Formats: sequence, structure tokens, C-alpha cells
Amino acid sequence: MKTSATAGTEKSTPMMEQFLAIKEQYDDCLLFYRMGDFYEMFFDDAVQAAEALDITLTKRGRHLGDDIPMCGVPVHAADGYLSRLIRKGFRVAVCEQTENPVEAKKRGGKSVVQRAVVRLVTPGTLTEETLLDARANNYLAVLAQVRGAYALAWIDLSTAEFLTAPLGAEAIASELARLSPGEVVVSDTLLAEPEATSGEGEWRQNWADRITPYADACFDSGSGERRLQALYKVVALDAFGNFSRAELAACGALVEYLEMTQVGRLPLLAPPRQVSTQESMAIDPATRRNLELTRTLAGDVRGSLLSTIDRTVTGAGARLLLRHLSAPLIAPEAINWRLDMVDYFIAGERLRQDVRATLHQAPDMARSLARLGLERGGPRDLAAIREGLGAAHVLGGLLAAPGLPLPPDGITEAARDLGRHDALVDELTKALAPDLPLSIRDGGFIAPIYRPELDELRSLRDASRKLIAGLEGDYRQQAEIDSLKIKHNRVLGYFIEVAARRADGLIAAPLNEVFIHRQTMANVMRFSTVELGDLERRIAESADKTLALELELFAALAATVLAEAAAIGRAGGAMAALDVAAANGEMAVTGRFCRPQVDDSQALVIRGGRHPVVEASLTARNEGAFIANDCALGHGADEGVDDAARIWLVTGPNMAGKSTFLRQNALIAILAQMGSYVPATQVRMGAVDRLFSRVGAADDLARGRSTFMVEMVEAATILNQATARSLVILDEIGRGTATYDGLSIAWAAVEHLHEVNGCRALFATHYHELTALAGKLDGLANVTMRVKEWRGDVVFLHEVGPGAADRSYGIQVAKLAGLPPSVIGRAEVVLAGLEDGEAFGGNRGRDSAARLADDLPLFATVRPTSGSRQAPGEPSAVEKALADVLPDSLTPRQALDLIYQLKAAARED
Ligand code: ADP
Ligand code: MG
Repeated sequence: MKTSATAGTEKSTPMMEQFLAIKEQYDDCLLFYRMGDFYEMFFDDAVQAAEALDITLTKRGRHLGDDIPMCGVPVHAADGYLSRLIRKGFRVAVCEQTENPVEAKKRGGKSVVQRAVVRLVTPGTLTEETLLDARANNYLAVLAQVRGAYALAWIDLSTAEFLTAPLGAEAIASELARLSPGEVVVSDTLLAEPEATSGEGEWRQNWADRITPYADACFDSGSGERRLQALYKVVALDAFGNFSRAELAACGALVEYLEMTQVGRLPLLAPPRQVSTQESMAIDPATRRNLELTRTLAGDVRGSLLSTIDRTVTGAGARLLLRHLSAPLIAPEAINWRLDMVDYFIAGERLRQDVRATLHQAPDMARSLARLGLERGGPRDLAAIREGLGAAHVLGGLLAAPGLPLPPDGITEAARDLGRHDALVDELTKALAPDLPLSIRDGGFIAPIYRPELDELRSLRDASRKLIAGLEGDYRQQAEIDSLKIKHNRVLGYFIEVAARRADGLIAAPLNEVFIHRQTMANVMRFSTVELGDLERRIAESADKTLALELELFAALAATVLAEAAAIGRAGGAMAALDVAAANGEMAVTGRFCRPQVDDSQALVIRGGRHPVVEASLTARNEGAFIANDCALGHGADEGVDDAARIWLVTGPNMAGKSTFLRQNALIAILAQMGSYVPATQVRMGAVDRLFSRVGAADDLARGRSTFMVEMVEAATILNQATARSLVILDEIGRGTATYDGLSIAWAAVEHLHEVNGCRALFATHYHELTALAGKLDGLANVTMRVKEWRGDVVFLHEVGPGAADRSYGIQVAKLAGLPPSVIGRAEVVLAGLEDGEAFGGNRGRDSAARLADDLPLFATVRPTSGSRQAPGEPSAVEKALADVLPDSLTPRQALDLIYQLKAAARED
């Protein structure tokens, strides 16, 4: 993204000199150079932007003998272009005019208007409503490393939350996957560092297109600490938390990066809050992807778990729900705190609907507050605060209504945080006009009566306008031209216009002393007068004064709002929490969910569990009901029952529902621990500390990395990391290699999970041989997806029952899929042969396959149906009868005759 221009400025214009000087400081960005109503780009910037935005590339002047490429976007439409550029991976430096052309002229005829970069737009530092997804946080994350220890600091600039967490190297990828930041700032050194163990540096690849390298010097933990102390005006940071050196480095670099991108202006930054990655369920990137928590494997939001269960009605609520889903809790008390809130809204149907209706009207206070804090806010942001606080007031009233049952702690806390802001709401209501412009520069947003001085200025302006309107009549009389008009445009300001053919009198004495000629057009002539000029000046002056006063009032109002930022932030947080609880209540009622019981046991007992996404899609497509299934892992462990199986081996043919069953149990665990009701009739489970889910290589096609190696690396992670409190979902692992290799690996993996990890696990496999393990391992039980065979076809019941599948039904499934009958027939013959071979024992499989290749007739010569009577290769009677038929030349009558003929021939066969 470097411009090809050098700083050599021979013969360049003063403006180009200015451009090049600024560009030199921002050579990794596109420079949006403000010229009047446009942001212009020059040189390489112009070439790249024109290409990326599909806009016209033009030229402007010459530099060092070459044409200067240029392109531009109108200021009023800049947001749209910005978002496209950011999405394509560009960073944009926005360079504004910092004085107006009149001021520049005062400094001498040739002076260039002063300009300065006011902001660097990067993916992680967006605040514009139009550039952001209202329902997801846009995090800027900073990763730092000090002496082998890592830390992440992150902030949502549009809501001003500032968080940090210490991390181990192995947790970087999962933590980034949880946050899904818009931008990850990493030091140059860390970026170049070789990874210590394989897989550890996975984050570098996963986030390659969102990583911003940043100078090492900015990651010094000592200066980070001092920077934070200065920022929060404290001598020690202890009050905020016990931060590691790496955290201090990350926080310091984050503040530094913000100052750089915001060009000195810092957002409202609450002190950094330390979060422990131990508090929430660890879910690695592959598991997140595979379970399609917030996006499907294809990358869509629709069809994900989140989109299926999200009933929130505000942007802030949606963002909170996403955060809950991304970081399910572990501590039962914390989970129950949230569940109690959901309960309250389930019991109080009326209250739930009222709260949701009120929230539905509420604007996004957090984002407006953040924009005001960055001095980037407009009148509508003030209005959003007023309406948001108004809604908070209504909500407070609803929660305090007489006759409601005793609320749980979460509701009480939310009600308290809603707070009272009557004075501020009152002030904003009085101050703001009913119709608000987008930008403060447009003026006209302060209501009448609010400030007498403002009303006075406005009436001056209006009086002058009236006087001008009155002048029209006077001039018509004076000039004796009835069609004379007073008009206004941007170039001339106010002027008098008459038809050219009537203008003679005005350019001759004596009238030419009053009417001053300005412009001659094709059909009209334009004049001004001294009087008109005076009035115009007065209008302009009062307009300037009006705007200046309005800007002053805006600044005062914004300051009043910002003085209450903390309380407003709390009110916004309470509204988001209420939205999530009421939404989960709504989902529970409409989706027939139940309250899960989460404890410290090792059980995972789910009665009547359903897969919420598959169920929703079956319903949407009218494809019948989802069949609910039970899961009972570690059931007996705390109930004194003998068959305390912690691992279930799930067999059954393809398409029988194995993968669905595995995933639904993992999803239920996640939903339960995020504090939501779950799609089941009854759930009792010990909190899961880590969730792992792996899909056999052959199934992981969406990522295009179906290599066996990847599968094995992932399996190794599980076997090394799963604890007794973990839940492991293994779907057809070992499929990416030869049968006996795969079986052996799967076998050993099951034994390891059982003997060493001691975790809960669901293991779907097509290796029927594995089911023999149940006899050897106490904690292993076989279950199978029940199917019915009906006239050689297979019917899936989608029911999980005890036992092992006796066969794969692969050929029946292939038949359902529409494989040609000849192939099906042949497969049946080969299968029978192989099974015979197995009866010999010993060198089963390989030997018998070799023998089969010799013994069985070749495919090309075999008949499609088994049990044929004529010798292979010899055409049947039917085939003979058909051989000479030309279908196009048959009459209907002949065709019917042919059918009789064929029927007869078939009997012959
Ligand atoms: P497998 O992993 O055994 O090949 P899947 O879990 O992929 O099978 O399921 C195949 C299809 O069967 C799913 O796409 C779904 O439409 C349907 N299905 C699975 N489980 C159920 C169920 N419990 N009730 C209804 N339909 C189901
Ligand atoms: Mg499957």
C-alpha cells in the first residue's frame, strides 16, 4: 500500500507537497485527502482504491513529469466506501481540512488550506453505526508476550469495554476464536517467532487477514504500566487487578494503538477488567466451528445455534447473548443466577411481553455513548441516550409493579442498575428539536425556547429573510418589471433575476446606480444591490452565530451526558441483561425447553434431548417431527448404579442420526452452562470444563483440510488435554486412513479416554469391531441408532437404543442415494463374497479380497440383478427384443405392442 511517489517535490504544487508530506507519515494506509465535498486519493492509493471500489480513475496535474492518478469519493457517502475498503483489508487515514479556505487566503494568495489526519480507520476501531454489525461486538485485540507468558487485552471501541486475560500459548487460538475480533494487533517479533510445538501457532494462520503488526517498542510492560497509571491517575494498578507483565504490555500497547488511530483522542475507557479463562468452558476453534455455534461451516450466521435460539430484541442484548454463548460458565452458582432470571420471565408472561416491547423501542445507548466520548457523536446520539434512559425508566417501573413475586438477585441487580436519570432526560428533552439532522454541522437541532439567545439569532435571520422577500415588490416597482425575482444559489448568494430582453433599463442610468450587474446568462441577467448584500451578510452572520451557539450547546449537552457515562453504561448493561433473560424465557416457552440442573457431578443425563437447529429446520421444511433421544453418561457414578458408563460408543448406518445425536448433547451442555433453558424434557449434568469435538477427516470437507494428519493432531490435543470434567465428542475418527490403521487408532483412543482421561465421551464409529471393547472396559457402553429393514430397504428411526449395530446397511443407504442398480447388485455380490471369506478366519479381509478379485466375474459382464439364469455376456431375450427398437419412430400403438412383446421375453428370461 505504499505510494510510488517519492518525497522529491521539484515542480510540484504546494498542495501536492502537503499531500506527500502527510502521506509519508501514513504510508501503510490509503490517504483520504479532503478537498471540498470529496475525499481524494492520489498516486498508488488512487489506483488501488479505484480498483477495490470499482470507481473511475482520473488524473490531476503532473508530478515529476508523470500524470498523477486520482480518484475520489463524496464525503456524504464516505461511510459506505470506507466499509468496503476496510472489509478488503485496507487501512484508511482520514485527512481533513483544519481551516476554511477564507482563513487560508488571509495568509496569502497561494496558501494551501491546512490539513491534518484526524483518524486512522482500521477494522478494530470502527464506531459508525453503518460500519458495524449491531448484533455482534467488534473487538480490537492485542496479543503480547513477556518472557514466555502471553496475554490478550481487548476492547470494543464502540462500547468502551476494556478487558484482559493472561493466557498460555496453547490457549491463544481458542481465546481468539471465542472473541472473534475484527483486528488483532501483534508485535513484529511475536509474529515472526517460530512456534514451539506444532499447532501452537495455529492462530497466526487463522487470523492472518486480521493481524496488524505493531512495533515491538509499544509492547514494553514497564511503559505499559506507567501509561495505565497516568491514564487512570493512580499510583498503582492494584485496585483494578493483579496484572501479569504480559497483561500490562498488552494493555499498554492497546492504549498506544488507540491513541495512534484516534490521533490523540482516547475513547472513554473503563479501567481494564481481568477475566479468567478458567471461569468459562474452554472450547477450541475446531470445536466451535464444528458445532456451528455462531456460524455454520459454510460461514453463514443463519443455521447456526445462535441464530436459532436468539430471541433478543436489542443490539446490546444480542451482543450479550453472543458473549454468553461464546463463553459458557462453569460455576453452578453463576449459571443458576442467570437461570433464575429466565425463570422469573417464564413465570411472568405479562411482564416478559411488556419488558420485551419496551426494549424493542430502545436505541443502542452503548454505541451512542462511545461515539460521544470520541467526539464523533451527533444530535441523534444525544436523542438515543434520552430515549434509552427513558426506556430504562419505563423498565424500572415494570419491574417494580405491585403484585409481582419476589425477584431473583439478577433481576434486583438489573433494576438497581437501571437507575434514575430524570434530570438528564428532562434536559435533553427540552434541548433537542423534534427532527434531528445527522451531523452537528447541519445545525437546527436545538429546540426553540431552550435558549433565548438562540431564538433571538434565529428571529434575526428570519426577519432578514422576510425583508428580502419584501424587497422583491419594491424592486419590481422601481424597475417596472413584474417578472423580476429575487433568488438564491450557492455561488452568488442572493441576487435579482430578470429576463434578458427586459434588462436594458437596469444597465442604463439611472437604475444602474441601484442595480449592480453580476452575470449574464442565455435568457436572464442577474443583479445585486447594496441593500441586498447587506441583508445577506446579516443572514450569514446570524447563521454563523446560530451554528456556533448550537455547537456550544451540543458540547455542553455531550459533557453532561459524559459526566454520567458510568451510570448510563450500567443502565445499558442492565437492559442488555434483561433482554437476554426475557429472550431466553421466550425461547424456552415457544421451543418447549426445560431448565437444566447443573452441578459438580460427572453425569450427563439428558432426557428427551433434541438438536435445536435440526429440529428448527425439520419444522421449517415441514419434514416431520424431530425424534427426541436420551443420553445418560456417568449416570451411575453418583447414583450407586453399576453401569456407570461414561463413554458411549454409537454405531449405526450412515444417515441414521449419529452425528446429530452427538452434537445435540454437546449443544445442550453449552446452552445449559450459558444459563439458558435447553431443548430436552429433563437435564442433570456436571459442569463441563472443556468441550472437545472432532469430526473424522472425511467429514471435515468444509475446510478443505481433509488430511489425516490434521485429524490426528486434533485427536492428540484431546487425549493430552481432556480432564475428568471434560466432554469429548468424537465423530468417526480414524476414517482418513486404511481400515486397519483407522480401527487400531480408534481402538487405542477409546482405551486412553477410558483409562487415562476419565472424561465423558460420545464416540460415533463405523468400526463395528470396536463394540467388542464394551466387554473389556466397565465405563464403556454400546448404543446404536435403530433402523428397520423393510423389503431390503432400510428405514431410519432416529432412535438411540442399547446395543451395537449388527451391520452397516451401507449398500441399502447407497440404494437410497440412487446408485445405479447394476452397482448395487454388484456390491451385494462382493459383500457376500467378503463375508464368506471372513468365515475362513485367520487372514480375513485382505486374502479373501484377493481371492474375490479372481473368483468373481468382472463387473462389466455381470447382470444387474442377482440370480440371473443365462450365462454372463449373453444378451437376454429382453435385450435382444430391444436391440433394434428406435423409440422416436414408434407409434403409440407400436409401443404398446412392444410392451406385450417385452413382457413375454421377460418370462422367457
Ligand atoms: P449419521 O451421522 O448417522 O450419518 P446424521 O446425524 O448426519 O446421520 O443424520 C442424517 C439426517 O437424519 C439429518 O440430517 C437429519 O435430517 C436426520 N435426523 C437425524 N437425527 C434425527 C432425529 N433424531 N429426528 C429426526 N431426524 C433426524
Ligand atoms: Mg455422521
